[in-house]
This record gives sequence, structure tokens and C-alpha cells, in this order.
Amino acid sequence: MRFLVISDLHANATGLAAALAAAEGRWEQAICLGDVVGYGPDPNEVIDRVRGMVKFIVRGNHDKAVSGLGDPEDLNPIARAAVEWTRSQLRPENLRYLVGLRAGPLEADGLTLVHGAFHDEDEYIYAPAQALSSLLDAPHDVTFFGHTHFQGGFSYRDSRLEMIHLQPRPGGPSFAALRLEPDTRYLLNPGSIGQPRDGDPRAGFAIADLDHGVVEFWRVPYDIKAVQERMKNAGLPEPLALRLTFGH
Ligand code: ZN
Repeated sequence: MRFLVISDLHANATGLAAALAAAEGRWEQAICLGDVVGYGPDPNEVIDRVRGMVKFIVRGNHDKAVSGLGDPEDLNPIARAAVEWTRSQLRPENLRYLVGLRAGPLEADGLTLVHGAFHDEDEYIYAPAQALSSLLDAPHDVTFFGHTHFQGGFSYRDSRLEMIHLQPRPGGPSFAALRLEPDTRYLLNPGSIGQPRDGDPRAGFAIADLDHGVVEFWRVPYDIKAVQERMKNAGLPEPLALRLTFGH
């Protein structure tokens, strides 16, 4: 079984369409690690696409905030403005879909899925020390996480915890393949479809082939200017549009 792993789509329909076009024919099951909406201009389009395609999904903090379940005060003012705008745009059935999303961790066909960390859906994992408890406590050898918008992750074997360095960069190769080793645990982030923050503005996602022990980390260019134009027309905060150019 090959899984398409997507995360942090953030209502960016153009980034999602580019990712799906690149991944076409390469996967059988789609899974999503949350933050379907928030920041971007296309919440209904992106939810429509995810609803029809994804079998396993956990909620993200933005999904929670738009649903009215999270505390909007936890978000910075710019993110909060985007949450309020998103809420005003959503069709009722799409709002219901967001409200119905469940918190991670979720077990899905031999994988564990979380938005933030194994023990806390809202925790950010940037550094190895922050990854340890998720690596040790998850029920499967491979756990996928999102939330940071950084593609890559961590491995743990024989008491050695290592960061997986993919070094994504604009214009670099469209994917990097990671070979999964036996007796090793992995905490992997497919990157963000809708708002990358690791210095590469291309949409990030992963294709995991567990039968053959390979995870591909993809980067796909998309029409960023078209998304920025829609954000401007929607009146979304300008810094949110600007950061798409740089992937920071
Ligand atoms: Zn996010």
C-alpha cells in the first residue's frame, strides 16, 4: 500500500492541485495530518477535495479554531483574522466536516498520525529532544506529524535519536527518498502543502510505500502569485500572502 501523506494545506487550492497532479498514479490511500484550512483563500475548495479523497485525517489547530473548538486567543492576531474570515466563508456542510474531525493520535493501516505531537496535538516538534516521547510511545514504527511546516523528521534506533536532513531548497530535486531501516522508529513530517516554512516555497508532501520501506518527500512548484491575488481580493492579511513567496 502506498500512502499519499498531506498536511497543513491551509486552504491553498492551487498548491494542493499541483501536488495531486504530481502524485497522480503513485498512491492508493490518502491521509491528512490536519490544518486543512486557515491562512489561505480557498477553504471550501480544499475541504471539498479532502472530503472526497482522504480516508484517515486528524484535525489541526486551525481546523479546531475555525470550528469554534479551540481558543482563538491562542492564535496570533493575523492567524485569528484568517480564522474569522474562513469561518465566514465556509458552506454549512464544510463547517460540519471540520467540527467532526477528531484529534490525533489516529492509527491508520500500520501508521500513527498526529498533527503536533503524540501526547499533545498542539505541540510543535522542531528539535530532537522534542521528538523523543513521540518516537518512543507511538504504537507503530512510523508516525507522521505536521504543524511545523518543516519537511523531514527524526529516527530512533539503539538509543540514538537523529534528525533527518533533507535540505529542501527552491530549484532542488522534486523529491528525496528515505529508506526505512529495520528496528528503527520514525517521526516524519511530509511538509506543508499550503504554506511551507522551511525555506522552499514549493508545496511539500510525502508518498510512503511501507511494503518496500521507502518514503519519498516531494516538492512541487505551483502558481504562488495566483494564490496571493485571491488572498488580496479576499482581504486576508498581507503578511500571510507575502510569506508564500519565500517559504518562511
Ligand atoms: Zn499549520
